[in-house]
Parts: sequence; structure tokens; C-alpha cells
Amino acid sequence: MQDANNVAKSLKDEKHLQHLLLTAFQQSISSIVITDADFNNGGPHIILCNAEFSRMTGYDASELIGQNPRILQGPETDRALIDKLKNCLISGDFFHGQTINYQKDGTPYVVEWNISAIYDDDGKICNYVSVQSNRSAQVKAEQERDILAKALHDNSDCVVVTDELGLVVFVNKGFEELTGYSSSDVVGKPPDFLMLSNSEQQPPQKLEALESKPISIDYRNYVVLRKRDGSLAYMTNNVTSVKSDNGQSACNVFIGNDITSQRRQQKNLEHLAQTDQLTGLLNRHAGEVVIKNAFNLSSSNNSTFSIIIADLDYFKKINDRFGHAVGDLTLTRVAFLLKDAVGNRNFCIRWGGEEFLIVLMHDLLPEAKKLAERIRLKVENLEDELIGRISMSFGVGQWLSTESTRDLINRVDRALYEAKGAGRNRVVIAH
Ligand code: GH3
Ligand code: MG
Ligand code: MG
Repeated sequence: MQDANNVAKSLKDEKHLQHLLLTAFQQSISSIVITDADFNNGGPHIILCNAEFSRMTGYDASELIGQNPRILQGPETDRALIDKLKNCLISGDFFHGQTINYQKDGTPYVVEWNISAIYDDDGKICNYVSVQSNRSAQVKAEQERDILAKALHDNSDCVVVTDELGLVVFVNKGFEELTGYSSSDVVGKPPDFLMLSNSEQQPPQKLEALESKPISIDYRNYVVLRKRDGSLAYMTNNVTSVKSDNGQSACNVFIGNDITSQRRQQKNLEHLAQTDQLTGLLNRHAGEVVIKNAFNLSSSNNSTFSIIIADLDYFKKINDRFGHAVGDLTLTRVAFLLKDAVGNRNFCIRWGGEEFLIVLMHDLLPEAKKLAERIRLKVENLEDELIGRISMSFGVGQWLSTESTRDLINRVDRALYEAKGAGRNRVVIAH
């Protein structure tokens, strides 16, 4: 009686266990398919599959039962992998693999398999249990991530990513090539050592308006990086703050475009536009700006400045007697002499053909007069085997706070004219 109860109980338990397992089988979020082990008659044949397997393949269970799982294969299915699978099935070895299978409507998907053989009481393989999952979404995401990572890494722009603590977590090839620092030199460190100056950067308060957006272009500005070799790189710098779901700043992405050579070209063009080709002095256009600046500065801080206008005497005769090229050479020599005498604090301008204008930012009339005298003497003493002695006449004036720059120039021009009229090779103070 006791035994019969136990048998009944164990039968009930077995049935209950079967019910539990079948429920788990149907509810599993993995696809599960079970086949027989009959390699004849077009097998192995599917004998059982769960709901997720039907969802993954697009076939109803009724359409699958009795079929060979081969119906899921197609042109992109990895043949070598299928051969390996078959060998594993026959030998009873556990199989793990991934390939392309096809849904009922022909849509391909990436399938990952775990397949094991089940043995009967006689030790013969009777079934295969295959647990599968559709990895298409992950594979696609991984491919996209790899493409993005590669695009970021190979980009010729300089990319630096910092974490929420401001430490570098990623630099790309563009960064390494530009700065000479390798990824291992900078990862884990704050990027401050690269920055020459952040004075041009806008203050972070400007970012507040953008705070709720998950990704926002925060500011675009220029930075100067100091490279490993000490030289400087001028960059346009685009900073994107990437925020986490809770709105906290997760990382900053700096994308810098090296504009060093454009900047150099621009500087060269600026220099060319400001420079007199023959003498290398400032040209008249740049001179006008210098005088305007001197005027503005002196007006704003209640100071003054002086100018000298110097003109070579009888220069036309040099051209007439020795030719234009010798005239040019003489102009160059005189320009060199003037620049040397005037020094770096002041400005020397080729104002016209053989006429020069000197702006003395800090000197008053007496010093200006002294300088003009010094230059006059130097020009007088310039020895030239071919042309002999030359001379220059000078008008000198100090800016009066009541006059315009034009008034000042006219006044000093009149003084120069006086010097010419009085016999040349002399300095006349403008009144
Ligand atoms: P003054 O003493 O009255 O100043 O007489 P000047 O001969 O120096 O003055 P003028 O204005 O009569 O002649 C200036 C000459 O300078 C005429 C012009 O051909 C020459 N000149 C102007 N620019 C250049 C230049 O770039 N190269 C050369 N070689 N000559 C120039
Ligand atoms: Mg002259
Ligand atoms: Mg002249």
C-alpha cells in the first residue's frame, strides 16, 4: 500500500516536473528546437520547438515539426560551419557557432547556436537540443559601433574624449599625428599640458542654456595646443558635451581642426598687404593705420606722439644719371638706415616714392628733432662709390590734442617744404 502511494506520488511528481519544464521551455526567451537523430529519411527532423523559435524563424510550430532545420539555411549560411556542425552532431560533441539563417519570408538573421546530443538508455544518440538566439541586432550595433570607432579613430581631425572628471579616455590617430603624443601618453591624464592658453575659451556659464539636451554643441572657439616637440598648433575647437540619461555630464568630445598653416598663410598675406615690396618697410596703407592708432592711443590716455617726414634731396637726378635700378638700391639702403635708427618701439613707413614717415609713439618734439638730426647726419655720411653723397630733408612735428592726423601731416609736410626751400639737407620743426 505504502509502495503504491509512493509510485503514485512519484508519477504525480514526474508529471508535475514535466509540466514545469514544458512551461519553462515555452516561456524561454531563447529559441529552443529539438530534433531526432535520424540522418536518414531527410532528417534529423524537428520534433519540438518553443514559441520563441517560431518568432525567430517566422514559421508556426506546425510548419516546423517533421522538417529538417536545414530549411532555415540559405545562400549566406556558412557551409564550412554547417559541415563542422554535422560532424559534431554525429560524434555527439557539444557545438557552439554563429552564422546566417533565413526566416520564412526570406529575411536573413544572425543565429547563435548551442547544440548538444541526448543519449538513450542504450548509449545511442536519440535527440539534439539546440538553444539559439537571434544576434542580428547586436551584430548590427557592433558593426555600427566599429564603423563609428574607426571613423573617429581614422579621422584627420584631432579628437579627444574626456570623462566626467576631465581625464582623457580616448584620442584618435589625428591627435597622435598632430601632437606627437601617443594614446598611452595622454589617456588617464587631464589634457591641460597641451593647452598653451585657454584665455580665448568662453566661460562655462555659457553652457547653461543647453543643459537639458542629451547632446549639445557647447561652444566653438580657437585653442592653441603645445605639441610634444614644443611647437604650437592653432586649432578650431568644437566641444560636445555628451550627457547621461539623468542629465549629468558623462563626457566631453573635443574635435579640433588644425588651422596652423591657414593661419601662417593669413599672417603672410597680412604681412604682404602691409609691406612695401622694395624696402620692406610698412607701406602707406599700413602707415595710415599706425598713425590712426597713435592718435587713438594718445587721445585716450592724454599723451602725445611725434612724426618725422623725410624726403631724399634731388633724388630724380640719381635716377636720371645712374638709372632706376641704382635709384632703387639707394632707396633700399636709406630704408635700412632709417629702420635701424628708428628702432623697434617706433614705426618707419615708406610714405611715397622717396619719402618716408616715422611715427614716434613715445617721444616728444625735442627727441623727435634729435632723431631727425641723427638720421640726417647718417644719410649725409653714407658713402657710395658710384653716386657719391646724398642728403635728406626733414619736417618734424608733435601732435597737438586739438588737431586731426591730417592736420598734423599737413603741418609737418609744410615744415619739410620749408627745409627744401631753405636749401635742403636740414631739419625743420613744424609750427
Ligand atoms: P627734391 O629734393 O625736391 O625732393 O627733389 P627730388 O628729385 O627728390 O623730387 P622729385 O619729386 O622731383 O622726384 C622724385 C623722384 O623719385 C621721381 C621718381 O621717379 C623717383 N621715384 C619714386 N619712386 C621711385 C622708386 O621706387 N624707385 C626709383 N628708382 N625712383 C623712384
Ligand atoms: Mg625728393
Ligand atoms: Mg618727394
